[in-house]
Amino acid sequence: MSVTANRKGPQMEKREVLTEKHAYWRGFMIRLNDMVNTREYGQFLFNCRHDLSFSTKILKSLPNIDVEGSIEYLKSKGGFCDCEVLMNID
Ligand SMILES: [Zn+2]
Repeated sequence: MSVTANRKGPQMEKREVLTEKHAYWRGFMIRLNDMVNTREYGQFLFNCRHDLSFSTKILKSLPNIDVEGSIEYLKSKGGFCDCEVLMNID
């Protein structure tokens, strides 16, 4: 009987960092924009909480995405909060 006790986690789980080149990028930006900029009775509402909470929420909902790595990537591009991701990247 072979023992592989020290190997844990799902096998061959592929995690990708979300960048502008990723297939999900466009959808990510559209969803982020919809969460940060909403409209009510013709008035624009700005919902950025000065953190990456919306970005994190969307990233977590995407399959096979390295959430932490993607957050690091967004920060490296000047996106330190959700509205900065929309303004500084893309
Ligand atoms: Zn912001």
